[in-house]
Amino acid sequence: MANEIAPRGAIFVCTHCGKRSYDLYGDQKISRNWDVSCVLNAVLCDEKSLVMKGDLVVSADPWEESPFEDEMESQPGDSQDSTPPIGA
Ligand SMILES: [Zn+2]
Repeated sequence: MANEIAPRGAIFVCTHCGKRSYDLYGDQKISRNWDVSCVLNAVLCDEKSLVMKGDLVVSADPWEESPFEDEMESQPGDSQDSTPPIGA
């Protein structure tokens, strides 16, 4: 498993203990003692949504990757570029 860096605005949160890190392996950890179990339990969260209790996260919204890109991806198939056969 390769290390992952959180995109801008996102942060890895250990769902097990609530520690925080900007990368999966804890090279850019914020909380001390980001360990192997944190790596296994880490999920990307929206950094702005974090609810803290002391130094630990107690609640956070999951990070949703670039919704704008999804919108653009779904359009080509639905666009009116494909002309229906005439006289079929
Ligand atoms: Zn942890």
